[in-house]
Amino acid sequence: MHTGLTDPFGRGVEYVRLSVTDRCDLRCFYCLPGDYREFSEPEEWLTFSEIERVISAFVSVGVRRVRITGGEPLVRKNLPALASRLAALPGLDDLSLSTNAVALARYAAALHQAGIGRINVSLDSLQAERFREITRGRLDKVLGGLMEAKRIGFAPIKINMVVMQGINDDEIEDMVEFCIAHDFTLRLIETMPIGDTGRNASSHYLDLQTVKERLARRFTLLPGVMPGGGPARYVQIAGSNVNIGFITPISQHFCETCNRVRLAVDGTLYLCLGQEHKFEFRPLLRAGISDADLQAAVRHAITLKPERHEFRENPGQVVRFMARTGG
Ligand code: SAM
Repeated sequence: MHTGLTDPFGRGVEYVRLSVTDRCDLRCFYCLPGDYREFSEPEEWLTFSEIERVISAFVSVGVRRVRITGGEPLVRKNLPALASRLAALPGLDDLSLSTNAVALARYAAALHQAGIGRINVSLDSLQAERFREITRGRLDKVLGGLMEAKRIGFAPIKINMVVMQGINDDEIEDMVEFCIAHDFTLRLIETMPIGDTGRNASSHYLDLQTVKERLARRFTLLPGVMPGGGPARYVQIAGSNVNIGFITPISQHFCETCNRVRLAVDGTLYLCLGQEHKFEFRPLLRAGISDADLQAAVRHAITLKPERHEFRENPGQVVRFMARTGG
């Protein structure tokens, strides 16, 4: 029975981003410091059974959608096994994955079979050398993963590109053409001041409102719609099926429609990407909490959700790295 989850500001919360690890096999300069060592330890990680219990409690009180993320989710061992346990939860309508695609060629078939339908892939550059400079990783692996995901039949496949002035802003049109060629959706993202890395990268911040105007000079843009209810505002490229989403947490925040919370691998629920409000589930799970009390804890946690982030007014605020919160 779904009764719905509503936060103190009247927003329905129906979406959980589930981070299954804070580790990552890339080091995007705006996300994780190259020498970062403060990863959580395995004993702090929620086990698959603990994850299943918490997610099941969320679903039983109204959550409909879960996106598996990280860190890089594919570095967590046996991820397809977790995915099939979550996909089997009655009431969960949509299970998706965010990945850097480095290891996707290897896991795409198993993940699809496990019940993941939709994937988002981070891709900031189509130039191998530039990709390496941004991420320290190999572009050919990511493209191999993407093509395998396409072959297997994930739909839609969304490309997430963090747009940074002087780093990759000259590639936006190329990325649009790439997405047209492969029938991918493109989501352009403004750089957020999350952690020291994100704050340092903010010097490359580019207001995406200007990018929309620039794209309109090259492509005919129609008003777009994209199922999924996320924060992106979409336009469609005329003569194609391709949508481009603009995720503008800085130039035009979308907190009033925020429908999500983030569960970190250590069982901390973060109520907002840009605030420290949180609730700890791990101690409750390890103390043997009942299902009914766990559901009550979920309802209580949602009452802690703040009204909005303050990336603009208070960019020094978020000290934890994106990989810890779960992107
Ligand atoms: N590893 C997975 C991936 O690559 O999609 C999931 C986690 S990753 C942290 C999620 C997304 O957050 C990626 O698209 C990444 O580019 C984005 N991201 C990380 N730090 C960011 C920042 N400071 N500003 C904007 N986006 C950021």
